[in-house]
Amino acid sequence: MIAAALLVCSAAACRRDTAASANVSADASTIADASAGDGAHARVKRGVKGGTDVTFVVVSDTHFGFGDIAKTNAALVSKLNAIGGKRYPREIGGTVAAPRGLLITGDLTEWGKVEEWEPFVATYGLRGAESELRMPVFEVIGNHDKVHGPWVEQQVSARHGGRFYAWDWDDVHFVALGEAPDDEGLAFLERDLAGLEPRVPLFLYFHLALLGPWSTGHWFGDGDFKRRLATILKGRFVVGIFHGHHHATGHYQWEGIDVWKPGAVKDGAHTFAVVHVTDAKMTLASWDYDRDAWAGSFTKPLR
Ligand SMILES: [Zn+2]
Ligand SMILES: [Zn+2]
Repeated sequence: MIAAALLVCSAAACRRDTAASANVSADASTIADASAGDGAHARVKRGVKGGTDVTFVVVSDTHFGFGDIAKTNAALVSKLNAIGGKRYPREIGGTVAAPRGLLITGDLTEWGKVEEWEPFVATYGLRGAESELRMPVFEVIGNHDKVHGPWVEQQVSARHGGRFYAWDWDDVHFVALGEAPDDEGLAFLERDLAGLEPRVPLFLYFHLALLGPWSTGHWFGDGDFKRRLATILKGRFVVGIFHGHHHATGHYQWEGIDVWKPGAVKDGAHTFAVVHVTDAKMTLASWDYDRDAWAGSFTKPLR
């Protein structure tokens, strides 16, 4: 256990962020982060500067420890590395830019064991230099990661500065909300958004579903967390929410907000989402990495 802890910590050692609300991406330092201010009472809210051009990818439910899923994950990593430079489907047009990073919406492991977490780290790395994957990784836990206790969640917290964390890419603000926003997660979100003007474009992501299959029968689905989340997000410019858990590829609306399921490594929905955001537009294209082909797309104007 101690050796494993050292191994994991050494993989994360280069991540210097300590505050959960700190910017965590390598290129986020160009954004003035009002929320990371040093105690000034009259905080200046972060607005938008324009010129946003952000590409990122989203996968889910990597489930290390389930059968030989490590092989599927390794294959997926090579597909993620190769997505930059591909032609988008005709309805979107143009070419996929190099992704800024990879979001993973939980169930990283099958049972939350140390020996399942270690191959996750070995496969996905952290900042795009520790493994085969050539981009930084921003994961959250899922229900499976908690089966053997908080080990995996503690490792995710150590890597990113907290159970919940947030960062900026250009004008876009990302908030990682763990398995799902609990009392602490909702408080984090409220505090985090207090540093942002309402017009700042937001993406949120977590593991559990908001609507549809598997969205009830657990603490998040049966509590009042969703209602409170909707209240906090009222008046905010939420471009989208991503979640896993359903092991599916899909899109729906919840409280007027677009929600996407990126696919899952476990089971058959072998897709990942390729998201491109500019000042004017957001596109999402779904890449099927079994067929090596686009499997659908979505476009909406922003502003
Ligand atoms: Zn799962
Ligand atoms: Zn799950």
